Amino acid sequence: MSRWQRLRWAAAPALLACLHLPSAEAAADERSVIGHSVQGRPIVTIRSGSADAVVTMLVVGGIHGNESAGVRIARRLVAQEPPRGAELLVVPTINPDGVAARTRGNAHGVDLNRNFPFDWRPLSGGEYSGPGPLSEPESRAAHRLILRTKPDVTIWFHQPFGLVDRPEGNPFIARRFSELIGLPLVRLPGRYPGSAARWQNHRLPRATAFVVELPRRVSNALVLRGVVAVRALAAELASPEVGARGRA
Ligand SMILES: [Zn+2]
Repeated sequence: MSRWQRLRWAAAPALLACLHLPSAEAAADERSVIGHSVQGRPIVTIRSGSADAVVTMLVVGGIHGNESAGVRIARRLVAQEPPRGAELLVVPTINPDGVAARTRGNAHGVDLNRNFPFDWRPLSGGEYSGPGPLSEPESRAAHRLILRTKPDVTIWFHQPFGLVDRPEGNPFIARRFSELIGLPLVRLPGRYPGSAARWQNHRLPRATAFVVELPRRVSNALVLRGVVAVRALAAELASPEVGARGRA
């Protein structure tokens, strides 16, 4: 671990604590509609955990409508309270029209993961990036949610490569997640213009966002492992021992 990583890890609980105002009691699960798709389907977030949590994690089950395994993980995740000290925001999919039609893009044929405003470029074909950054209501909903909640860790589930994409910036938390879920940490070749995770890592450099590529075929056992891995990561990040380990 580099000195920067140690410093960052050691400082993380204090930095994270600053992001949250203490509250007297834990809130129950809270469903909210953060926007609507092109065809008017609601985009839903399920929030759980205490409002004075020291870590906020956002899990997006799917952004490409034809990749459904992460949605299965997201649906299982919301069935349980998150570990103590963690606040969990789960968006099963930001692309409900794509899920309904089993297409990668939204109802305009836009690849939402090329529609975010960092390094956006005009792309056509299967990765059509839209007429401009944030042209799509689904990307705008996710953009608003992320800027409002500023999650410390965001996981974007995809398929089919079977790996955790090593993010730009600090890979420490993505590496830990790759150990927990049992998928290798690999940098996907190329940096995707307009991707959600890259925008987040650029816009919120103290936090981290990364892509988990589940394999093409995902068993129920792997779905469960994904749920356990998210919860374990949240528990570790919320633990006071994390600071001590970072300083050791
Ligand atoms: Zn994908």
